[in-house]
Amino acid sequence: MALKKLVAGNWKMHGLSADLDEIREIAAASRAYPAVDVALCVPAILIERAARAVPGFAIGGQDVHFAARGAHTGCTSAEMLLDAGASLTIVGHSERRDAQRESDADVKAKAESALAVGLNVILCVGESLAVRETGGAMHTVGAQLDGSLPDSLEAEAELAIAYEPIWAIGTGKIPTPTEIGEMHASIRSRLVERYGADGRGVRILYGGSVKASNAAEIFGIADVDGALVGGASLKAADFLPIVAAAAAVEG
Ligand code: PEP
Repeated sequence: MALKKLVAGNWKMHGLSADLDEIREIAAASRAYPAVDVALCVPAILIERAARAVPGFAIGGQDVHFAARGAHTGCTSAEMLLDAGASLTIVGHSERRDAQRESDADVKAKAESALAVGLNVILCVGESLAVRETGGAMHTVGAQLDGSLPDSLEAEAELAIAYEPIWAIGTGKIPTPTEIGEMHASIRSRLVERYGADGRGVRILYGGSVKASNAAEIFGIADVDGALVGGASLKAADFLPIVAAAAAVEG
């Protein structure tokens, strides 16, 4: 079953008021590609301004706390993201798993708290270079999924998985199409084992150095249902050709 492609930008710690025009341009041009879902995940403090600037376009967060409220200085709850105008959030990005020492259990709790309030979730997994080179990529990603997938898909909101090999993020290196295909097939099997037939409806995005020049090839791989894009999502001129490539594969 071919799923509608999702192309989501991860702006990381980039984005000021002056960048709202870039978001407006991306949102306006994305309307030309109704066969693709497009989203931008921006810094939490920019969400409300971005959402107001582009009504109807999907603006997301990049992280969420697993608790609904409480003594968590500097953190943002799922309800706060929703209240600010977000419709989705990333969880478990490797930069957070590494720098903030987030465990699979943390990522699972974050995903569940977001889904429970109706936020769509992009849950990231991916192996390090050392793991890839020693042949352990499938095992590592499988273990991350086992530990971080939400218990059920019963929420109204949608879960997507982003396979992001850490060594491909921001480096210009990407796995071969065969490696991407094998990993996505393995993630799909895990999702079906876990959720039954519903696991076939979970979109699996590829992330890591996606750009205009490689997007068409990546989107042509079986079980690649979209992309999570970092650096190339910051400028409309770089991001829109990726959206166009997804639309072209949709036919
Ligand atoms: C990311 O960090 O989610 C990412 C995919 O980054 P880049 O596209 O810059 O490799």
